Amino acid sequence: MSEQARSHNAQMVLNRLAKKLNRQVVGSLVACVHCGNCTDSCHYVLANPDDPTYAPAYKADRLRMLFKRHHDWTGRIFPWWVKAKSIYTDAELVELKDIAFGKCTNCRRCSLNCPMGVDFATFNRLARGLLVSVGIMPEGVAVVSKDQWELGNQMGVLKEDYVDTVEWMSEELVEDMKDDKAAISIDRAGAKIMYTINPREAKYDPRTISDAAKIFYAAGEDYTMPSEGWDMTNFGLFSGDDDLGGTVASRVYEKARELGVKKVVISECGHGYRSTRCEGPNWAGTDIDFEMESSVDTMLRYIREGKIKVDKSKNPERVTFHDSCNNARSCGLTEEPRELLKLVCGDFQEMYPNRAENFCCTGGGGAMSMSEYTPQRLKSATVKADQLKATGAKVVVTSCHNCVDGLADCIKHYKLDMEVTQLVNLVANALVFDEPASAPAAAEADVPAVAGVLAGRKIVVIDDEPDVCVFLSTVFEDNGAEVFSANDGDGGLALVRQHKPDLVTLDLSMPGKDGGKVFADLRNEEAIAGTKVCIVTGKPELRKLIYERPVREPEGYLNKPVDAEKLLLNARKILELK
Ligand code: SF4
Ligand code: SF4
Repeated sequence: MSEQARSHNAQMVLNRLAKKLNRQVVGSLVACVHCGNCTDSCHYVLANPDDPTYAPAYKADRLRMLFKRHHDWTGRIFPWWVKAKSIYTDAELVELKDIAFGKCTNCRRCSLNCPMGVDFATFNRLARGLLVSVGIMPEGVAVVSKDQWELGNQMGVLKEDYVDTVEWMSEELVEDMKDDKAAISIDRAGAKIMYTINPREAKYDPRTISDAAKIFYAAGEDYTMPSEGWDMTNFGLFSGDDDLGGTVASRVYEKARELGVKKVVISECGHGYRSTRCEGPNWAGTDIDFEMESSVDTMLRYIREGKIKVDKSKNPERVTFHDSCNNARSCGLTEEPRELLKLVCGDFQEMYPNRAENFCCTGGGGAMSMSEYTPQRLKSATVKADQLKATGAKVVVTSCHNCVDGLADCIKHYKLDMEVTQLVNLVANALVFDEPASAPAAAEADVPAVAGVLAGRKIVVIDDEPDVCVFLSTVFEDNGAEVFSANDGDGGLALVRQHKPDLVTLDLSMPGKDGGKVFADLRNEEAIAGTKVCIVTGKPELRKLIYERPVREPEGYLNKPVDAEKLLLNARKILELK
């Protein structure tokens, strides 16, 4: 019987499959006895109990049938007997893509519950890699991979923007601490530690950079941040592209060697930690001659060694902890974050199940970048939402930037009254510094003494909270600015059109026209499009929505509560005033 014609892509996938098989993958491909033990481990199954196509064993069989048809002797001789089947068309590859990327977050919870040791997530990653090699992947995966290949980080942050953000955080910290030694050095050769971050921190959440820097400063640490090789995340883990994985990991390793550091500290990110510390050396084919450590371990060590002092009463609200799949299941980082939490929080409530049995945030495996699968991702998040609700906590802590986004989406979709934060924020907030010998006597002493620094500048303040409006206006007026204020979006826009200010401070959450729409109008209306904008908001989770708009980013972004010193520092920076 003649073989059906096969597309070029299908043939390439088969060729590559043959090269990628190793003992670990083959072991998982042959060991399944279809007992069904793994079925209820999967959050997709629990959210879709009537749809058998979400079962891990069903999904695994889509790749397994290929393996059997081409690499297993029973499948080669009696394909009908062992359900072996080859692949012929691009349409079949697209079907495989919708399973490998759209119905699994590679969370490995099913792997943990398989009595035969089948690690589906490992060969699901292999399937992703095969598809990526012929260009069949979700568009978001292509975009993010391209950014990481070409710009060195997965969020397309330009080097100058990253350096600018670090310098900005550094300036703020020096002002806060009133100590030049608090400055963040960049590319300082010979430092003991190189601190690497997730690009989400530079783009959406720079307070995590300044909080980490504050902790390093408090500990008297000898650290630096690199100008290259600073992105410790690695989309190769999600896309299955080992070449990308090796290239990205090598950038971090090469920079660490160039600077001659003894240790690389990896900020809180599950897949970044797994990729950089565990998988990266294999992908990159290199030996590592320095230590690598999660910042969770670093912070815990500082407290244990008495290098920093913390006061847990500064974080009194009830918090719960979400274990990232990569940290907990793949790297065993389960007890350290709990020990740290109990040292810096007054009320810790465990989530169930937890540790290696925890459910995925549902944004893992790169799912947040695959918008075509968002509805099924959010449907599966009902499992996570139930877990979160049962804790009664108002704050969920996680040691992973990817989980921050996954959880925030889940919280928003299921309308939970919760916010997400990370250990670094809680530790920084709990820090206790010894009283300086000559502390400033009054709060006014905190305001930089640059009299009339805003003289001749016009500023429009838009905020629905009258007391915030008064506070911001007073600080600006006391420093010489002419200020106009409005308590709603339309009123604020009218003031901007009328006065053509140098700067607008804009609240995001307002009744009527919200700040996001006002911001879009400010950018899109030709006559006022050049206006500089500083967002001042009590909702840090809205940052992403603002920065993802297809318009120029705001020139500044401050989270409430904001003090006079920080407000002025930002205004001066935005207006390029000394
Ligand atoms: S638990 Fe293991 S052996 Fe059983 S169906 Fe799942 S993968 Fe197969
Ligand atoms: S790895 Fe996670 S998401 Fe994928 S099938 Fe297993 S339990 Fe489900």
